[in-house]
Amino acid sequence: MIAIAFNELHYLHNLDSHVENSNRVDTIISNIYKSIQNQKGDIKLFISKDLNYSKDIIDIVCKVHNYIDNLEFRCRNTKNWDFLDPDTYITKYSLEVVFSNLELLFKMVDWVIENSSYGFGYIRPPGHHAESKKAMGFCLVNNVAVLAKYLQLYHNPKRIMIVDFDAHHGNGTQEIFYEDDSVIYFSTHAYPFYPFTGSHTEKGSLKGFGYTFNFPVSIYADDKELINIYQEEFVKIYEQFQPDFLIVSAGYDIHSDDPITYMNCTIEGINKIKRILLDTVARKNIVFILEGGYNTNVLQEITNYDINGIR
Ligand SMILES: [Zn+2]
Repeated sequence: MIAIAFNELHYLHNLDSHVENSNRVDTIISNIYKSIQNQKGDIKLFISKDLNYSKDIIDIVCKVHNYIDNLEFRCRNTKNWDFLDPDTYITKYSLEVVFSNLELLFKMVDWVIENSSYGFGYIRPPGHHAESKKAMGFCLVNNVAVLAKYLQLYHNPKRIMIVDFDAHHGNGTQEIFYEDDSVIYFSTHAYPFYPFTGSHTEKGSLKGFGYTFNFPVSIYADDKELINIYQEEFVKIYEQFQPDFLIVSAGYDIHSDDPITYMNCTIEGINKIKRILLDTVARKNIVFILEGGYNTNVLQEITNYDINGIR
């Protein structure tokens, strides 16, 4: 049995004219409802149908970010939508969507650990560009970083590894754990490309030195180039550090049909990368959290494979 999580109220954070809009996850959710009819027994669904969340969530988010009060104020005073920077919009309900997404993800990882299984979190807005002191790049809160913090607080892992295969470098995730030796950050990304961080010389600092691994690739990179890095470098680093839990920043903007990037990966290539990750960890204690990916046909196809466990 595998876990799948989504928030039915994600559309309360939406701006139709923006590429990161609610069509992305609407497509995924309707596809899941259509596809799981015959497979109900194999899938544990985590669905958020309201914006309720426990106040503990805010405490955990504030251990990662220092601007939440300000963001709360901005959201509360937003009528329709507002921009934090030219890329990053908010609505009145954005932060509530983010908090209820996180509560959903926490429940999913509890189940994943209890059942030695794996899961997929189809949440939006994405998170990997959000740094400790700044929201940016469509991202309000760094979902995977907060999830890592939750795991540390409630499950006491020795070491966590965050793997990020989005086309863009996860500058936020890197920055948050740059001086930390308890969370390994491993990223493949187009370079030089937005956000222009992630050169191979960025390796962490202080006690985090040697725990950040960047594998920049050509902005036109294809399946072969990426698969090779996962087969060789990822497996080697995983075996060296033996993390207890893997969080994957799953960005599907590496697909050749993505409207905002130039990479040339296929669905088969993406599945191969996911299979390498899953099989390396014996298909347990790993979750894939949605980051980028702006072609809804691609997202729909991806979920078809995820639902079947990427066999
Ligand atoms: Zn991206």
